[in-house]
Amino acid sequence: METSQLPSSLPTTNFAITEILNYIGDGLYAPQSGKWISNFHPASGAVYGKIAESGADDVQAAFECATNAFPAWSTSTAKSRSDLMLRLADLMDRDLEILAAIESYDNGKPLTVARNVDIPRAISNIRFFATAILHSSTEAHDMDGLALNYTLRQPIGVVACISPWNLPLYLFTWKIAPALAAGNTVIAKPSEITPASAFYFSKLCIEAGFPAGVLNVLHGTGPSVGSPLVSHAGIKAISFTGGTQTGAAIAAVAAPKFKKLSLELGGKNATLVFSDCNFEETVSETARAAFSNQGQICLCGSRILIQRSIYDQFKQAFVAKVKALKVGDPQAVDSNIGAIVSEPHLLKVLSYIELAKSEGGKLLSGGNRIYPEGFENGYYLEPTIFEGLDPFCRTNQEEIFGPVVTLIPFDTEEEALQFANCTPYGLASSVWTSNIGTAQRVASKLQTGIVWINCWMLRDLRTPFGGVKQSGVGREGGWEALRFFTEAKNVCIKS
Ligand code: NDP
Repeated sequence: METSQLPSSLPTTNFAITEILNYIGDGLYAPQSGKWISNFHPASGAVYGKIAESGADDVQAAFECATNAFPAWSTSTAKSRSDLMLRLADLMDRDLEILAAIESYDNGKPLTVARNVDIPRAISNIRFFATAILHSSTEAHDMDGLALNYTLRQPIGVVACISPWNLPLYLFTWKIAPALAAGNTVIAKPSEITPASAFYFSKLCIEAGFPAGVLNVLHGTGPSVGSPLVSHAGIKAISFTGGTQTGAAIAAVAAPKFKKLSLELGGKNATLVFSDCNFEETVSETARAAFSNQGQICLCGSRILIQRSIYDQFKQAFVAKVKALKVGDPQAVDSNIGAIVSEPHLLKVLSYIELAKSEGGKLLSGGNRIYPEGFENGYYLEPTIFEGLDPFCRTNQEEIFGPVVTLIPFDTEEEALQFANCTPYGLASSVWTSNIGTAQRVASKLQTGIVWINCWMLRDLRTPFGGVKQSGVGREGGWEALRFFTEAKNVCIKS
């Protein structure tokens, strides 16, 4: 599609980026194939731009640039890498409003969410790892005077960072920041569904003075560019966030080539509400945990387990809270819920609503696609609540990744744990109680990588982040990420 064919009805603003180019070496380039894919505006359903459909040729070009850049970057001082990344963070601060508008326009999320959550967090990711490397240390082991061992942590080489569409710049920077800070050179692939903020970010890297080839950003689909990137013999490590099935496909390619792999995958997170919780706060925060970002956060609590003695009271308050949420134009300041990211994803979520009905679920609220005035072709969905579904049915076992939650009563702590732990996933959970004993007992038995007590998505970037079971392998965050992006080498000196 040519940009000249853009529909005239679309708002033409400086954040509706109409051509997404690859960042390879020192500049921005069209794909070698000359092929493009359409970029959709979820709020209106219109095509508003074109995205490079990169392929193996572009991967090879980026790989050569990254390889050439590696010797100088990997031996540069931590201070010089830190200074450059902090300069980039300052430019992101300067352009925060532009980045937020781009993210909201491309993804469909409310502008207020992009402005208050996504972009500030993306900037924090860069600043956090830019300064963490100034304070990192390694171990030494004295063998009772016989020898001294010390550990070197050295950059790996050219690494791949692949990120999804739900928190585009937030998760993109969560990977590339530790990779670059540790001295690697990077080929990154954002989701082709939401490439715009990563493209603008590439321009900021050039403005900040990034040396050619240190960061390369390739656009295109999983099959066209993700696959050749993952299978490239020279890529030493892959950090991937996305769906469990994609993660399994990547692992199958990477494992026989002995590539280092970090996989952050899907979730089916439980929210455990005990009868002694702070009621008002719990209703409000569990609604936020369920429907933030249209329910499209891997950490969203989509199964709400409620102690039976407060089930009816909680249900009534929760449904009332959710019915008051306003769905509409992501740019409007009073929209709580924006558009679903794409039409295929909207149809997938709708199919799960039909599945829930067919499994005997009772619809308490929502369940329909909606067509806000002026945005009739956009991808909007009512926040949806079901009850009466078996914890082991497909609706309660499979990741929906949209604004759909189920309410499930439980009687005892043991039953709550059984229901919480009964899915193949194990990413996150939250526990709502005023009893510290219940909180710590339940936290220790939940089969998830992250447990929040009386809060949700409160993030300290120093903490380990990741899941167990089919939610992933490895941890991101803090030293975990810096360890992933370095190789440990033991040096033993005989005394
Ligand atoms: P996908 O798995 O579809 O895609 C993730 C990324 O991988 C995209 O950039 C995609 O490209 C790319 N990709 C697809 N196929 C391949 C391939 N064969 N080789 C290499 N790369 C490939 O996930 P979504 O984008 O749909 O994201 C939603 C999923 O991400 C949900 O399951 C969610 O739970 C999970 N997620 C997990 C998080 C965590 O921290 N555990 C955090 C956020 C999301 P493209 O889209 O361009 O085709």
